[in-house]
Amino acid sequence: MHHPDAVLALLDLAPSGRVDAVRLVDPDAPALHALDLAATRGDGVFETISIGRGHPQALRPHLTRLASSAAMLDLPAPDLDGWREVVQRVADALGGHEEAWVKIVLSRGVDGGDRPTGWAWGEPSADFSVARTEGIRVALLDRGYRSDVARTSPWLLAGAKTLSYATNMAARREAVRRGADDALFVSTDGLVLEGPTANLVVRLDGVLATPRTDVGILPGTTQADLFRWAAGQGIPTRLASISPQDLQRADAAWMVSSVRHAAPVRAIDDRAVPVDAELSAAMNAYLSGRTE
Ligand code: PLP
Repeated sequence: MHHPDAVLALLDLAPSGRVDAVRLVDPDAPALHALDLAATRGDGVFETISIGRGHPQALRPHLTRLASSAAMLDLPAPDLDGWREVVQRVADALGGHEEAWVKIVLSRGVDGGDRPTGWAWGEPSADFSVARTEGIRVALLDRGYRSDVARTSPWLLAGAKTLSYATNMAARREAVRRGADDALFVSTDGLVLEGPTANLVVRLDGVLATPRTDVGILPGTTQADLFRWAAGQGIPTRLASISPQDLQRADAAWMVSSVRHAAPVRAIDDRAVPVDAELSAAMNAYLSGRTE
């Protein structure tokens, strides 16, 4: 079930992707055709944007990534000005809440039709204070792909934020079966990638490092904002090729994403990882307080 303050906006999209109209509707009203390719094939793309006191956070990079995911699926280019307005309308409706989120979805539309489908769903965020302070345990899972998969097999859509997240969710369930809270994927050639819904940041030799984005992962909007903030704090950052062996010597790690923000990692498989409570709190204060 959803929060009583949930907001649903349905878009009328032209075949070109242009946003022709937006309607705020009852979130419980029927909204999706049973033959929509979002539902029948997971054939579409999405973004989830956090909202802090009515301000969409990292909206520009989220929209840029939506456009790049859409291009990878040969979908009509999303009308970014139209989508920006939709996100702001939902954010305005949720502005009384300290933290909220909006998920925007663009699908290939009803099977056999001539236009994409679009909607935006927003609601207040769950309470992530335990994950942000006590941290989470992650299990390393084989992604089953080499790190060059985006180049060798672009049809696998590695690096696109598609609606086909069933494997990501299956990975998280496997992590839970192994006694962890979240998964962290490793490529078949031994590079650490990302989680099912988050990027990894590790501290190695005093430097905050994150996997390079050319290994078939999503370029994270949260990670990018965090690295800009860290640089301003005098903390060095870099994109790196990171192996499971490197993780053994990390003295702090985080899974970072738009709604949960920075969840410190307190264990990777059986190895405990120290939680830097002070830095984690500073990261989350910055991420939650963003006004753009
Ligand atoms: N990687 C994957 C696979 C994701 O689904 C997400 C977000 O849901 C991220 C990384 C983190 O991206 P962002 O920080 O932009 O939310």
